[in-house]
Amino acid sequence: MAKYIFVTGGVTSSLGKGIISASLAKLLQARGLKVTIQKFDPYINIDPGTLNPYEHGECYVTEDGAETDLDLGHYERFLNIFTSQSNNVTTGRIYQTVINKEREGAYLGKTVQVIPHITDEIKRQMLLLGKEGFDIVITELGGTVGDIESLPFIEAVRQLQWELPDEDCLIIHLTLVPYLKAAKELKTKPTQHSVKLLSQEGVNPDIIVCRTERPLSPELRRKIALFCNVKTDAVIEAADASTIYEVPLAMMREKLDQICLKKLNITQYNEPELGKWKEFLDKLKYPKGKVNIGLIGKYIELQDAYKSILEAFIHAGAINECSVNVVNIHSEFISRENVAEKLGTLDGLLVAPGFGLRGIEGKIIAVKHARENGLPFFGICLGMQMSVIEYARNVLNLANAHSTEMEENTPYPVIALMDDQKDITTKGGTMRLGSYPCDLKEGSLARKIYGRERITERHRHRWEFNNAYLDLFESHGMIASGRNPETGLVEIVELSNHPFFIGVQYHPELKSTVENPHPLFVAFINAARHFSDEKSIKPRPIAQNEPVQA
Ligand code: GLN
Repeated sequence: MAKYIFVTGGVTSSLGKGIISASLAKLLQARGLKVTIQKFDPYINIDPGTLNPYEHGECYVTEDGAETDLDLGHYERFLNIFTSQSNNVTTGRIYQTVINKEREGAYLGKTVQVIPHITDEIKRQMLLLGKEGFDIVITELGGTVGDIESLPFIEAVRQLQWELPDEDCLIIHLTLVPYLKAAKELKTKPTQHSVKLLSQEGVNPDIIVCRTERPLSPELRRKIALFCNVKTDAVIEAADASTIYEVPLAMMREKLDQICLKKLNITQYNEPELGKWKEFLDKLKYPKGKVNIGLIGKYIELQDAYKSILEAFIHAGAINECSVNVVNIHSEFISRENVAEKLGTLDGLLVAPGFGLRGIEGKIIAVKHARENGLPFFGICLGMQMSVIEYARNVLNLANAHSTEMEENTPYPVIALMDDQKDITTKGGTMRLGSYPCDLKEGSLARKIYGRERITERHRHRWEFNNAYLDLFESHGMIASGRNPETGLVEIVELSNHPFFIGVQYHPELKSTVENPHPLFVAFINAARHFSDEKSIKPRPIAQNEPVQA
C-alpha cells in the first residue's frame, strides 16, 4: 500500500511548492523508495492546454499526450521518471467527471453536491496513483490556503487524514517567513495565520516548511513550532537557493526526508544515493567556459513560458562544463536592419515554439542570419517551421511561402494543416499531442547525435511540413533527417552545408532531465562552444546557399 504526502501552500503563491515537493521526492527516491508526484489545480479549465502562457507559463506535455502544469516538468526533471494524465488533475476535470456521471444517472436520483460528490471524486483521483505500485505518492495542492476554489481540495485532504491509517498520511505546509528591513527581523505572524486558517478548515500540518531569505534561529523555530502545533524539528528552513537543483541537498540538511520517514513509519530505506546529482551540481557551479545563446520568442519577458527549454540548457551546459548565458530576444523587434547587431554576439540561436502571427517575420530574419553566418541554429516546433519557411523564401525562391496557420492563401504552403486536423473545431486537447516514433536518416547529423535509428519524442502542434515540397527541399540542401515511420511526416530538418542547423517538429526540451540531458541540447551547446572558440581565433566565412532559379 502506498503512503501519501500532501503539500499545501500559504501566505502567497509562487513560494515554490513544486520545487519543494520535487526535492522531497528526489530524496525519498534516492533512498530507494518508489515515488511519484501529482498536482491538483483548483482552476476550472479542464487542463492548462488552452491557457495563455502569460496566465500560466509553459504547458508541459507528457508521454501520453496530456497537456499539464509546468510543475510536472520539474517532477520529471528531478525524478527522471515519466508522469501522465493522472499526475495533473484540475477542478474542471473533477466537475466534468461528476457531471458526466450525473448525466449517466449514476447517482440514482440523489442531489449531486460539492460534499460528498465532488470531494469523493477528488479523493478517488488522489488515491489513484497509489494503486500503481508506488511506495509514496506526493500530492501538491495548487493555490493558497484560504482561496475559495481550494476549499473542496482541502476538505478532501481533511477526510483522507481520517480515512487513511495514521502512518500512511502526512501533511506539509509551505509558508513564507518574511524579513522586515525596518524592524531587522524575520516575522512569523503570516505563518501563524496561515496555519490557523488551515486548521480552521480541519487540517493540521505535520511539517512546516518556511521560505525565507535569512536563516531561522533556533528560537524562531521554537516559536513557529509552539504556535503551529508541530515539533521543533518539523520546522524546516527553505532559504533562497542559487539554483533549484540545490534544494534537494538543502532539504536533506534540514532532514526533511528523515522526518517524513519517521512519521510515515517507514523503516526500510537506504542512505541517500545522490552521487550523480552532486556531480551535476559541481559541473553546474564550476563551469570552465561560457556560451551566449539567443532565445528568440514572443513571451520573452515571461521566463515561465519557456521553462523546459531553460532547464534543458542548464542540463546541457553542465555536461559540457560551460555556463549557458541565455540572451532573451523578442522576435517582434528583430528587423533586417538590426539583426546583425542583435545577434552578433551570440554563439547559438534557438527559435522557440509558439502560435500565431505575432513576431513571425522577426523569427524568419533571425533564422536567415544563423543560416548565412554558420551560427549554430536549433529550431523547436514553430522554430522549425520558420526555418522551413525561410529556406523556401530565400533559397528555393518561393516568394511569400508561408504556413497556412499565418497566411491561409499563401501561394506556397510549405507548412500546412494535416488532413485529420482540418475538421477540428474545438481547441482543448485536439492537437497532435504526446509521444510519437521517428526514424533517423543514416549519415545525418540527427542520427549521429542520437546514436540510433528509432527515437520517440513528444509533440504539441497542428501544422506540419508539407510533403508536396519535400523533393524540392531535399534536392537543394535541406533534408528531412527524421520522419514518422507510419505517416511519413517530417519530424526533423537539417542542413548539411552548415556546422549545426537543426529544426525539430517535436519538443525535445520536455524530455531533458538532470540524469539524462537531452542529446540535441547537449550537441547544440557543444556546437556553440566550438563556434565561440573559432570566433575568438578568426572571423567566420559566410556560407551562402545558392538561390535556386525560379
Ligand atoms: N503553431 C504551430 C503548430 O501548431 C507550432 C506549435 C508549437 O510551436 N508548439 O503547428
